Amino acid sequence: MICVSVTAKTASELIEQLNAAKEFADVIEVRFDSLASVDFETLVPAFDEFRRGFPGKVLATFRPANGGQGGFRELTREERSEFWRDAHMLADWCDIEADIDQVPQGFDKVIRSHHFFDRMPDGTEMNAVFDKLSASGCDAVKIAAQADDFVDSLPVWKLLSRTTTVKNVIAIAMGEAGKWTRIVGPAHGSLLTYAAPDRESTTAPGQITANDLATVYRVSGRNRDTKIYGIIGGNTSYSMSPYIHNAAFTNGGFDSMFVPFQVADLDRFVNEFVRGTAGIDLRGLSVTIPHKVDVIKYLDDLDDSARKIGAVNTIRIDAGRMTGFNTDADGFIKPLREHYPDLRGVSAAIFGAGGAARACAYALVTAGAELTVFARNAEKSRALAREFGCRAAMVASDDTFEIVVNATPLGTTGPHENESSVPDKVMRSAKLAYDLVYNPFETRFLKDAKAHGLKTLGGFEMLLAQAVRQQEIWTGVTPDEGTMREAALAKLSR
Ligand code: NAP
Repeated sequence: MICVSVTAKTASELIEQLNAAKEFADVIEVRFDSLASVDFETLVPAFDEFRRGFPGKVLATFRPANGGQGGFRELTREERSEFWRDAHMLADWCDIEADIDQVPQGFDKVIRSHHFFDRMPDGTEMNAVFDKLSASGCDAVKIAAQADDFVDSLPVWKLLSRTTTVKNVIAIAMGEAGKWTRIVGPAHGSLLTYAAPDRESTTAPGQITANDLATVYRVSGRNRDTKIYGIIGGNTSYSMSPYIHNAAFTNGGFDSMFVPFQVADLDRFVNEFVRGTAGIDLRGLSVTIPHKVDVIKYLDDLDDSARKIGAVNTIRIDAGRMTGFNTDADGFIKPLREHYPDLRGVSAAIFGAGGAARACAYALVTAGAELTVFARNAEKSRALAREFGCRAAMVASDDTFEIVVNATPLGTTGPHENESSVPDKVMRSAKLAYDLVYNPFETRFLKDAKAHGLKTLGGFEMLLAQAVRQQEIWTGVTPDEGTMREAALAKLSR
């Protein structure tokens, strides 16, 4: 069930929030502690009216700021007791902290919760807290704890195995690295997954919007057999992959989910989640910075092109056996072929000598192009050139190229948005400019290229083409590219 948390300073604002939240909510958690004051006379009739039109459950929470449990304002014991005496008039369920001795009466379900906002306790401490909450009168236990790395979330994740027919569990790892527990948790028995009504109103770190949980991840109706795919990377918060791949899975009728896995410790990730006891049916991974090279040592098999490129961006997992692929090279060359069906003898320049440049160099050299690589680090471009059998150079005035490729992050939305790696003089004789950066669509480099009369290609087409190839590797089926394109465009326009 998706539980949307709402907060407001005044009663009228709260009712507005409730109405806005109900579209995707099975349960609405009302943070009564966010109100400046709780006036039952105003709230009860307003809530009665709202609940008549809302088929789901209303969950009351009244957390004190004192006590380290994340409340919005200081509350005395008396205020809390008074609130819980009458709160059943406002809600179906309640969520109370461990220090409340008298279980509030009149609720269909009582949740006991504890939050570790700044750390993830180990399994022993986690189980002790769980046991204490569980024994203190409740129908469900909720524990939320901060995870700084994906692999830290294991102790809280394992609590889900303690679900029984009489005791529900809600287990959440907070933070970007714990986001996956909010997405996969319901499929593994978590009673609720908490969502923000919109991007601006999150009430806990790592919270996802209700819209994304319902329409991108489609968390309802999943179970332990749902196949899990994900992107492993140092920072997954900006990744487009969940939007693109979940759209493909939905359109293809697969019971599969694609989830962000913000992983720092690859070793533990592979041992505990791919080959360990986490109990997730992990079938495939996208791999991004900084793991594309390091992940190779964990693989059982490596596709030929990935071996030659020396980097992996895709992993297929068959019963714990990991095979690595690189779809960046195919993704790069496919849109280029629309302009150059035959690349033999065509002169091309790549700016950058990182992971993506390696895939592009492999693709261009394999297609027969005459390639030169430029990088700010001459040693790196020389090494790359030696490996792929092309030329490395510093920019000189007499260099002429038909195709110019930016494989650096320059031009990406953010501090380097107005920068380009490609000097003007390289563009004078060129015919096509290809930027791997896709956000923004038209980068500084592509604007400059247009001004010089060049044809342009942005990184969006490569992004889609490499994702299509990933789907083929994972599912054996060619996905509907139009659906993936639409999902990516919708996300980019938000
Ligand atoms: P990477 O491995 O970190 O390599 C980045 C390259 O750019 C390195 O050669 C780096 O030089 C150079 N560079 C970084 N900052 C620079 C600057 N300020 N001035 C000049 N050169 C600079 O990253 P990557 O994986 O190759 O990705 C490169 C870009 O391609 C990223 O923007 C990525 O998002 C994009 N990409 C797009 C797609 C797609 O599907 N459209 C796929 C893959 C990558 P040093 O080595 O000296 O730091």
